[in-house]
Amino acid sequence: MSQLKQLKERLAEITALGQAAGLLGWDQHTYMPDGSAEGRSEQLAVLGKVIHEKFTDDSIGTLLDAAASEVDGLPDENLDKQLVRMTTHDYGLSRKIPSDLVAEDARVSAMAQSVWAVARKSNDFASFAPWLTKNIDIARRKVDCYGYDEVPYDALLNLYEPKMKTSDVKVLFDQVRPVVVNIVKKIVDSGNDVDTSILTREYPEDAQEAFSKRIVAKFGYDFNRGRLDRTVHPFASSFGRDDCRISTRFDKNFLPMAMMGTFHEAGHAMYEQNTGVDLVLTPLAGGCSNSVHESQSRMWENIVGRSRGFWNAEFAGLQQAFPTTLASSDAEPLFRALNKIEPTLIRVEADEVTYNLHIILRFELEQQLLSGELSVADAPEAWNAKVREYLGIDPPNDSEGVLQDVHWAMGGMGYFPTYSLGNFLSAQLFETATAAHPEIPEDIARGEYKSLFDWLVDNVWKHGRRYFPQELIKKATGRELETGPYLKYLTTRFGDIYGLDLT
Ligand code: ZN
Repeated sequence: MSQLKQLKERLAEITALGQAAGLLGWDQHTYMPDGSAEGRSEQLAVLGKVIHEKFTDDSIGTLLDAAASEVDGLPDENLDKQLVRMTTHDYGLSRKIPSDLVAEDARVSAMAQSVWAVARKSNDFASFAPWLTKNIDIARRKVDCYGYDEVPYDALLNLYEPKMKTSDVKVLFDQVRPVVVNIVKKIVDSGNDVDTSILTREYPEDAQEAFSKRIVAKFGYDFNRGRLDRTVHPFASSFGRDDCRISTRFDKNFLPMAMMGTFHEAGHAMYEQNTGVDLVLTPLAGGCSNSVHESQSRMWENIVGRSRGFWNAEFAGLQQAFPTTLASSDAEPLFRALNKIEPTLIRVEADEVTYNLHIILRFELEQQLLSGELSVADAPEAWNAKVREYLGIDPPNDSEGVLQDVHWAMGGMGYFPTYSLGNFLSAQLFETATAAHPEIPEDIARGEYKSLFDWLVDNVWKHGRRYFPQELIKKATGRELETGPYLKYLTTRFGDIYGLDLT
């Protein structure tokens, strides 16, 4: 048997183990009993360690070297050559972290998430603080293992957005921040208030679920290889392309929560469901990077799901789902209500424009926490000060401030910037898709999504992890990641809604 074939067999085994660990994680966030946190954290720690040991074993390195000679001379687009290239990248990174640190990270983050959930509910930052300190300590140890070129944060960012530098993110954020601040200011100053009362009427949960499922199935989400469950913090998770699950949460007096959340998670899951069949059980299965993943969820949630065309097409169906609640309503007020711009406290409920300010403040605080410039004890006040500065509002408590997100509990420092990068990319990809297929917006306005879906399959989804993000973006759009299309999208959509010149 060739060394390449042996390598593939070993990688398939490791990939399957990773999917099994993923399923334990999915269960942890959906149906696991509250009292099972400790046992689950142990199971995840053991599996994480086993997977890491198997993957970083010297014999994998030997097989990789031999496989590299086998694919040498093949074209760069050759799948085996790409497999060897990406696995060499992953192997190099994983070898830098000792298995014991991997296990400790899994154990601490699982426990920290349980402590955080209670702390958030009871507005008790003090009880979470020691766990945040532990997580920051682990993050620093990981930085020491990985190393970096410019700043320590680079080492963490690279885990979510391979080969991207903190300084690259800063350049993009510096382009976006003044434009976003200007848009928010013009809208707030205009006093042109959007009526959102249509969102807070009575919407029975079963009908919400049925409508959301019907729409994401129309988008192209395959329920035969997926399912929708209920959770506290919505997420999508996949265990191979044939099992890509989504979750959401319901509020019978707030329509967007479950519905827009379901559109969002379906964007993630459709990506995974449509990665190439030839990538199954290889390290190339799954999404390219966090930002590319987020560009897909944002595209379906916002660019499609909050557009006027979409609601002109789908409002009749929504009315059928809620015949009494929406008896004498029409699409336009709903479209406007779903696009209201207003500084608010909670990131996951923020509108498309102010959302980026939530990300920028987290990006800045994370760097300060990592460097030690900001202490854990001072984090709540530093958070509130940034919210005042960027959003002009004051968090009344830590639950709606520093405690609101799970990321620092799960040891996910370096993750936040990829949300905004995903926003930027969603507009760049949509602009490219529309240039190639000008019928896409009209199709959406007729409730047909296949033209967009097919473009995404061909240009993004089917490639899985065959390319690094910068390569995929260049290949799909012909350009590097840029903020121009996104800023144009924001000024156009919200200028139109508010009747303002936002440029
Ligand atoms: Zn997402």
